[in-house]
Amino acid sequence: MRNCIAILFAAIFFTSCSSADEADMILYNGKVYTVDSSFSITEAIAVKDGKIVAAGTSEELKKQFQAKEQIDLNGKFLFPGFIDAHAHFYRYGLGLRECDLVGTASWNEILQRLDAYAKTIPAGEWIIGRGWDQNDWDVKEFPINDSLNKRFPNNPVILTRVDGHAAIVNDYALQKAGVTASTKLVGGDVFVQNGKPTGVLIDNAIDLIGKIIPNANAAQAKEALLKAQQNCFAAGLTTIDDCGLDFEQVEHIEQAYKSGELKMRLYVMLSDAKKNYDYIFKRGMIKTERLNVRSFKVYADGALGSRGACLLQPYSDQKDHYGFLLRNPAHFDSVAAVIYQNKFQMCTHAIGDSGNRTILNIYGKYLKEKNDLRWRIEHAQVVNTNDFNLFGMYSIVPSVQPTHATSDMYWAEQRLGMERVKGAYAFNDLLKQNGWIPLGTDFPVEDIDPLKTFYAAVFRKDAKGWPAQGYQMENALTREATIRGMTIWAARSNFEENEKGSIEKGKLADFVLLDTDLMNASFEQILQAKVLKTICGGEVVYDGRKK
Ligand SMILES: [Zn+2]
Repeated sequence: MRNCIAILFAAIFFTSCSSADEADMILYNGKVYTVDSSFSITEAIAVKDGKIVAAGTSEELKKQFQAKEQIDLNGKFLFPGFIDAHAHFYRYGLGLRECDLVGTASWNEILQRLDAYAKTIPAGEWIIGRGWDQNDWDVKEFPINDSLNKRFPNNPVILTRVDGHAAIVNDYALQKAGVTASTKLVGGDVFVQNGKPTGVLIDNAIDLIGKIIPNANAAQAKEALLKAQQNCFAAGLTTIDDCGLDFEQVEHIEQAYKSGELKMRLYVMLSDAKKNYDYIFKRGMIKTERLNVRSFKVYADGALGSRGACLLQPYSDQKDHYGFLLRNPAHFDSVAAVIYQNKFQMCTHAIGDSGNRTILNIYGKYLKEKNDLRWRIEHAQVVNTNDFNLFGMYSIVPSVQPTHATSDMYWAEQRLGMERVKGAYAFNDLLKQNGWIPLGTDFPVEDIDPLKTFYAAVFRKDAKGWPAQGYQMENALTREATIRGMTIWAARSNFEENEKGSIEKGKLADFVLLDTDLMNASFEQILQAKVLKTICGGEVVYDGRKK
């Protein structure tokens, strides 16, 4: 009997002892927004093997745990690592090697930047630029490629608009791709003037050029991924939805994980192409702690800026022009069928109210009623008043980008008119449908910075504080809803809410430490907010002090 009691005491002693001393990291003395179901706040976290083992007061955790790495949060503000539910991570990385045209104020400024860039690349190479927006210019019209032909007769040139839905190319690139004034195609346009292409291409016409640009090799891909990762960790991101990759690119990503250098968690949507369906249905879903591939990205229509978004009524600023679907509805129906059968997730880019209606109805045909399949509409940008309820009826997830609202607010009403614009960027109306909504940026269309997402969602103003009252404020989100959209709801849109998106025991130790309290700061303070540290899987992957 005495032996039994001794063993019992020993057992109690050892179990309490082992839970008392082992952690890899303790973060203490902070204001920790856990983003759990009651949005509770705590002070400290203990981490072991890349996961959260406890959250509580500094005193409790310091008593309970011993850890080599102790991080004093100095009263600063800790959130779950930010998740961008819609971006183009891989393409952003590749773009870091290209000529940056973001913020150019005129066609002339573009030419100046190209002249400087052309000096840095070998003769005859592709000159690839991205990020122009004619809405930022004095003359708000698409340019003509004469000056590109004159300057770069021996380099193919392609300059993509900021939204990726329009491009201007030189004649050399057109010739290489065999595009002429008589080229006709579905879901795209080749602009022609006086019987000659102007160089401006819309939507599917851009792909004719894109097809002949050589793909990045494994080394270039890895370099691009690591550069993108560095910037994204510095912005506080720990998971990114990469919307629309080919399977070869997924294989490049897997290689970069194997070498241990790529650490960013990625939720990859494969592009709508036969080779990708064949590949992944044969291989099956891919799921590790870093990589999750179980969905497809399909494009319904183009973008509002380039008037490619498909509308139910003509554009208010272009007579008889409706925009267009990029494929016919039978195509969307057939991919929905195959994705449904294989139990994958369908994520469809839809901007115009007609694009949205088409996809909502096709989704509805398969989903039939409330469900947990989490099929998504990416952007859900212009929705007809009569169609909002379809999101709730079929549990369709609207995946939206608040910075699109504040980038487009200057001209959206010209495109849509006073009435229709009320159903645009209607984030709060969309949130009400299912009670949750994932948020993203669509970078590199917008900046990678998730704090700009927060600012745009809550204040709906530009960086200069315009408009003073905010843009269509009935559709602003609360601070709490916005934080959830950037963390737990984004995780949920990826089927990952049980492993990330909040600071709770058992979840991945992904955090971002900010110098500003997002829940209380003024809009001016939020514009100045800085990321102090980013932690991914219990590892400090960005330290602002070591910049
Ligand atoms: Zn996108």
